[in-house]
Formats: sequence, C-alpha cells, structure tokens
Amino acid sequence: MTSSHDTSEPHESGLLTVDLDALVANWRQLAAMAAGADGPVECGAVVKADAYGLGQAPAMQALSAAGCRSFFVCNVAEGELARSLAPEATIYVLDGVSPGSGPRLAAAGLCPVLGSLAEIDDWAETARALGHPLDAALHFDTGMNRLGLPAREAGAAAARLAEHNGRVRLTLVMSHFVSSQKVGASINARQIADFDAARKFFPGVPASMANSSAVFLPERPHYDLLRPGYALYGGNPTMGPDNPMRPVAYLRARILATHDVTPGETAGYDAVWTAQRPSRLATIGAGYADGVPVSATARPDKPGGAAIVGGVRCPFVGRVSMDSIILDVTDAPLSAAQRGGWAEILGASIGVDELAGRAGVIGYEILTRLGRRYARRYIGG
Ligand SMILES: *Cc1c(COP(=O)(O)O)cnc(C)c1O
Repeated sequence: MTSSHDTSEPHESGLLTVDLDALVANWRQLAAMAAGADGPVECGAVVKADAYGLGQAPAMQALSAAGCRSFFVCNVAEGELARSLAPEATIYVLDGVSPGSGPRLAAAGLCPVLGSLAEIDDWAETARALGHPLDAALHFDTGMNRLGLPAREAGAAAARLAEHNGRVRLTLVMSHFVSSQKVGASINARQIADFDAARKFFPGVPASMANSSAVFLPERPHYDLLRPGYALYGGNPTMGPDNPMRPVAYLRARILATHDVTPGETAGYDAVWTAQRPSRLATIGAGYADGVPVSATARPDKPGGAAIVGGVRCPFVGRVSMDSIILDVTDAPLSAAQRGGWAEILGASIGVDELAGRAGVIGYEILTRLGRRYARRYIGG
C-alpha cells in the first residue's frame, strides 16, 4: 500500500485512489437518515469481500475512527482480520457457523449470523464446550430463500434457544430484502410484515433489516441497526439518476501508446470497431484482468464504456483486452492524449453505476472485481 501523502507518479499502469473521507461522509449521511422520531438507530458497516474491493483494513480503520461499532463480514477469515482491526467492535459473520467452525469463530470473538436450527445447536455446543455463553445474531429468511430460517419457524427457533439454557445470547435478529432498490414493490411490505411477526418471539432483541437501498425506502425499515455496504463505497442505492452518495473509488490508467488511423482502419481483436473519420487512438494500461468487463466493449449496435482524458469523455473502441483498452481520443486535447498521460475510468464524472450499466453488470461487481495490479492510494481518513 502506498502512503496517503505519496503524490509521486506510480510506476504501475493503473492507479486506484480510495477517498476515505468520502467513505466516512457516506456512513455519516446514512446514519443521519436513520436517526429520527423512533429513537436512536445505529449505523453499522458491511465490509465483506475486502470492503467491496476497496480494502478492508483502511475502510475499517476509517469507519472505526468515525465511531462505527458494528461490522458485517462474510466468513471467519474476514472476521479474524476485522477483529484485529477493531478489537472492541461487534463483528457479525454472515455465513454463520459451518460444521466445525464454531471454536475458531469463538476464539476471535465473532458473532455468527445463525440461519438454521442446526447452526443454533452447533453454536450452543461450542458455548457448552467453552463453558460460557456466546453471542449470535439470528437471520430470518422472508423471501430470498438464500440464508436464514424461514420466518414461520421463529417460534421453533425461540424454543430451541430456550432448550439451550442461555448458552446462545441473541444480540440481533435480522432479515434481508429481495428488492429494496424498488420503491413500492409489494414484496417489501410483505417482507417487513413477516419479519415483524418473527420478531415477536424475541422481545427486546435489537433488529436489523436495512441494506443500503432499504435505508431510502419510504417504509423506513431501519429498526435498531443499519447494514449498508454498497452506498458506503459510493454506489447509487437508489434507482434514480442522481446518486446521493459521494464517490469513493477513483481509477486512472496510464496512456501507453497512441495511434493515428485513417477511415476504414480497425482497432483491437476481431476488428469490432472501424474508424469513420481520421482518428487518434490511445491504448491505456487496464483491461479485463484489472476488472473492466469485456462486456464494456463498444459494438456497432451498442455503446460501450468511456474514460475521461483531458476533461473529455473518450469512448472505448475495439474489444476490451486483458491488459489494455483502446480509447478514441480524437476529441481530447492533444496535450493530454499523449503517452504517459492518464485516463480516468472511474471518478466523479463516471461512477461505478455508469460503468456497470455500460457493461450490463451491477456496480457491486465492478467494485468487488477491481484488479490487484493497480497502485493503491488512500486519501483522508
Ligand atoms: C451484502 C449484504 C448487505 C449489504 O448490502 P448492500 O446492498 O451492499 O448495502 C446487508 N445485509 C446482508 C445480509 C448482506 O449479505
């Protein structure tokens, strides 16, 4: 990792800059949206998948310093790293307890999100063997059919916990939306009703249902704890064109070479692009191995991705290659469209949602697949 104050030019062909001040501002914004008439609501942070590709350690350090006390990770390895970064925080492991993993989860002081009676039994057995109670969250499935107990089994789960004599202490009951980005979808109201029915079996236990998009739902299903991920990292949690969040990831790639071509010449593999006018092309040092999807290739029937060179939006031409992309920089200032110059792939004017849309994927996928070859810089925090 390059230090925050390093302003030298990296020797890598790509530079990923992560704005930790923007990350913290996004966290504060979500927390402020939830604080309301119904009493205080805590804002946690989902930092699974290396904080959506942007770096679990710097993200957790910045959020912890800002006051975040609850983190969600995917598995035990991510949880152990989280524990080392935030010794006092509550760390929820969304995958729950898998057979045999109980002792390791307990040793790191992690809080598994239990999703079946068998997981409750496993965690209670870990607690019995250790001789002290263990904390856990309980996840109700209200429509995903992915993880969690069916909400109608809430009574059975409460009975099973009672049988285990307090060995498992619930710190949270939670559920997860199917379509929280769709305001007015009838499934949202049904999921909230099913979750509320399940919650009745666990009076006094804090509840959580809201991922990023659900924070914005008119139903305000904020309960006691928010669990945003995507919006923290600058993704648009709404389906509207205006992103209420600040961009966090800035990705630039170096111009490696330029070519002046005449009408009729083609560019890249399979010649999917043909010059219609005298054109200047620039080859930049990032490709699909660096997380820019091949599906962002422009084709005669469909526009592709674009990058900013010298303040001008320059379209991708030709197929996205493993290590490079060709841009049409004819309209960019010649001073910028030179070997050694930079092209901005992600930033204030082209966000993760735009690149995703042009590639036919979701912004979450753009972030979590950002490549390993970039120089990385963290600013702020
Ligand atoms: C990933 C995840 C989240 C975060 O979702 P975003 O849409 O990124 O805010 C919240 N809850 C659960 C259960 C998740 O798996």
